[in-house]
Amino acid sequence: MLCQKKIIVTYKTFNIMKVNEIMANLEAKHPGENEYLQAVREVLETIEEEYNKHPEFEAAKIVERIVEPDRIFTFRVTWVDDKGQVQTNLGYRVQFNAALGAYKGGLRFHPKVNVSMLKFLGFEQIFKNSLTNLPLGGGKGGADFDPVGKSDAEIMRFCQAFMYELWRNIGPDQDSPAGDVGVGGREIGYLYGAYKKLAREHSTGALTGKSYGWGGSLIRPEATGFGAIYYVERMVKQQGDKMEGKRIALSGFGNVAWGAATKAVELGAKVVAISGPDGVCEIPDGITKEMIDYMLDMRASNRNKVEDMATKFPGKAKFTAGKKAWIVKCDIAMPCAFQNELAEEDAKMLLANGVKYVAEVSNMGCQPAAIAAIQAAKVPFGPGKAVNAGGVATSGLEICQNAGHINWTAPEVDQKLHKIMNDIYDMCVEHGKMADGTINYVKGANIAGFMRVAKAMVAQGII
Ligand code: GLU
Repeated sequence: MLCQKKIIVTYKTFNIMKVNEIMANLEAKHPGENEYLQAVREVLETIEEEYNKHPEFEAAKIVERIVEPDRIFTFRVTWVDDKGQVQTNLGYRVQFNAALGAYKGGLRFHPKVNVSMLKFLGFEQIFKNSLTNLPLGGGKGGADFDPVGKSDAEIMRFCQAFMYELWRNIGPDQDSPAGDVGVGGREIGYLYGAYKKLAREHSTGALTGKSYGWGGSLIRPEATGFGAIYYVERMVKQQGDKMEGKRIALSGFGNVAWGAATKAVELGAKVVAISGPDGVCEIPDGITKEMIDYMLDMRASNRNKVEDMATKFPGKAKFTAGKKAWIVKCDIAMPCAFQNELAEEDAKMLLANGVKYVAEVSNMGCQPAAIAAIQAAKVPFGPGKAVNAGGVATSGLEICQNAGHINWTAPEVDQKLHKIMNDIYDMCVEHGKMADGTINYVKGANIAGFMRVAKAMVAQGII
């Protein structure tokens, strides 16, 4: 009896997660890794209550283990530019967590890429991939290479040089990278060509986002944007509202914004803004099919300027230099570009202009203070790891097709993607329902994503 009492007391006193203590340790160990620390804090704060109901998690020190990557590869990438000059960049692959499957996550080519950015992205990827219910671990990689202004031949040589180092550490059952910012179908083609030559095997599942015809999946290019709109459609329906006629402001004009614009228009919504690093294009009458097609040319040009849309469609799109998409009055705001792109003052402007829904499509697209302001105003907020999970989910479907040596039709893939997004939405509601009847989608996504990984880690022992 006495003994039993003692065990209970011990459990109550010591067997709980202490977020501040864990964060203080991480901050001391990884000073300056701000994006990574931000991503970890958000997850821990929202799962804390649920986690503490599971003493088996704390006994296996799941949190202390899950916040550190299994391993990080850092490597030099040396290549020759069109002028014959030797250039050197830094390449990385963060293999974060493999409890649910082989490491999976994109490659980002951007001059600001560093370990902190890739650790935050890899950490988010663990829970996002878990939400898809597919057997996918979490990873991320990339390089501080700037594709802007590079020729096609330079992009190819860089991708080949990157793969000289990475090829040994990837494979369908080991780690399967894909695209992310600065890495699209063209780059995946060059990366896969180099991988195949070095590994001496046609192992298509080693990379996803391949072109259709040699291992790629139909709907993969559209998947992140389509999935995001499927999720937003559910958020809108939850409020007894409909997509038709809604004014949507998107940031960015890359692959993700392109997919989201395509599906939004199909559902009768109006995309009234897209943006770029140079400014915003306001499209008062809504984006047209021709303009959506032109987004692909803008990306292929490597100029990275949204102003090109206004030049091509004068009178339809109005460019304002140096401003973000959030100055445009809209019902739904969807950041589709980069982490922390939507700040507190942007959120306040959106709220003042009557925004009804905000959904992150970029990973961690909103700053914590912006999320707090949106949630305080009781405006439904969808977090990136749930809203943008359609991309990696369809990568998972691409791997399934590669393994089975088959190709599904576009409607078959789209139907599976739609179901996965609906299931993710339902999980977020199940775990995010608050006492006042509102839904905290951030909490719901983090708990649902975390639980599956934590249970797998407990079952697989201390490794
Ligand atoms: N980069 C995308 C993401 O953030 C896709 C990753 C993948 O398909 O592996 O989820």
